[in-house]
Amino acid sequence: MAKFKCEKCGATKESRCKPQKCPECGEAGVMIKEEGGGCGCGCKSK
Ligand SMILES: [Zn+2]
Repeated sequence: MAKFKCEKCGATKESRCKPQKCPECGEAGVMIKEEGGGCGCGCKSK
């Protein structure tokens, strides 16, 4: 599980893949990977 953070409002969310949009402010494309491993998203790990 990786952790993603919203660039806009700073909300964090744990997810296996990069969230489409922020759960807090609803902005799309602002979730950046903060920590953790696995897929860098694209979900082509295996
Ligand atoms: Zn946000």
